Amino acid sequence: MLAFAPPMARTNRVAPRSTEEHRMTPRNLTILGATGTIGVNTLDVVARHPDKFRVVALSGLNQIDKLAAQCRQFQPRYAVVLDPDKAVTLQGLLAGSQTEVLVGMEALEFISALPEVDSVMAAIVGAAGLRPALAAARAGKRVLLANKETLVMAGRFFMEAVREHGATLLPIDSEHNAVFQSLPADYNGDPARHGVRRILLTASGGPFRTRAVETLKDVTPEEAVAHPNWVMGKKISVDSASMMNKGLEVIEARWLFNARPEQIEVVIHPQSIVHSMVEYLDGSVLAQLSNPDMRTPIAHSLAYPERVEAGVNWLDLAKLGQLTFEAPDFARFPCLKLAYQALAAGAAAPAVLNAANEVAVAAFLDRRIPYLGIAASLESVLGRLAGMAADSLEDLMVADATARREAESLIAHG
Ligand code: NAD
Ligand code: MG
Repeated sequence: MLAFAPPMARTNRVAPRSTEEHRMTPRNLTILGATGTIGVNTLDVVARHPDKFRVVALSGLNQIDKLAAQCRQFQPRYAVVLDPDKAVTLQGLLAGSQTEVLVGMEALEFISALPEVDSVMAAIVGAAGLRPALAAARAGKRVLLANKETLVMAGRFFMEAVREHGATLLPIDSEHNAVFQSLPADYNGDPARHGVRRILLTASGGPFRTRAVETLKDVTPEEAVAHPNWVMGKKISVDSASMMNKGLEVIEARWLFNARPEQIEVVIHPQSIVHSMVEYLDGSVLAQLSNPDMRTPIAHSLAYPERVEAGVNWLDLAKLGQLTFEAPDFARFPCLKLAYQALAAGAAAPAVLNAANEVAVAAFLDRRIPYLGIAASLESVLGRLAGMAADSLEDLMVADATARREAESLIAHG
């Protein structure tokens, strides 16, 4: 199975034939989830290279003032929101500008498949990001995938769409971007052929790596979202605290690189400098290092196969002094174990886990369940629904909806 189009095909389809040509042809972008952490970092990189990147469409959900300011700065042709009232507000704020405001999920799919767009940054959070990411893949775009939930929910179908429609997939998640950079340029989704033995995903261990386990029951939302190394949206911050984020990333790696679950290992690395590694049969381990700043993987994917400045501080290893590594503690981080179990169970289990996690994290952030209630709800929902079918995308949508209902009812009835 090909995880990525082979490099020749990639080069022929999307990359310019020469550096000179690339300089003359700016890449046209759609940014889904422009108002979020990844969206804002993407626009920061774009603003540094007005000659290389042009924004065609942006989307947001709630922060309409911010989206309007982004539209004024980058002058996209389209701006998309989901709620009709918010669309009216946005239209008012953009009166007299050239930006057309569109509304709804179909509009998100439309801006992901526009003929004039080369690259789609898929940076919506959660399962809501699946349909537009899929639309971009089906339109054969360069898909810059931040929305890991797409691969967790529907990895097999998404990768099929990428292959069938000649799309190019570039991982934004820092770990997967590091693995991508540490794999041979012609990696074609066959670990054995390239002598790949293991993929080593690093994890910071989050804010609770050393906290006394018996006090985890008292964790507050404020403590959970205070990540030591990264500034991120709330949902992924809670996922990082519980290490569900790493669990989702194990599943993401399985699909991106076509690796067997037992070939994907997690190692805790509290400094978040080594973003992940690939181990080869001869004992070599290749890694990608950089400061923890998402603008590095974003700039890498925006410019690939070229390199552009990202505005990131240069790495000062002597100042850092040491990089340390330790094994993950599954008792402290039961969510990581649940993710491996869901991956092993296959079928709809990862989609069920993902949906239940979105509900449980939202309930925790609303103070409706305690921190330890997240893992407890996931275990229970997974126990009941792991066997659901996953023969089609529709099956996965049903599994997603059923898991959400099950998790909500479990939370409501304590
Ligand atoms: P965020 O919460 O900061 O931003 C989410 C964006 O999605 C916002 O623009 C929001 O308006 C939009 N959005 C939210 N719900 C939506 C819905 N139902 N429909 C349409 N749009 C919606 O999140 P983030 O931290 O930027 O993360 C975005 C994605 O990138 C997530 O899947 C996350 O796992 C992944 N990711 C983030 C980071 C990071 O450092 N922030 C790193 C790796 C991967
Ligand atoms: Mg990550």
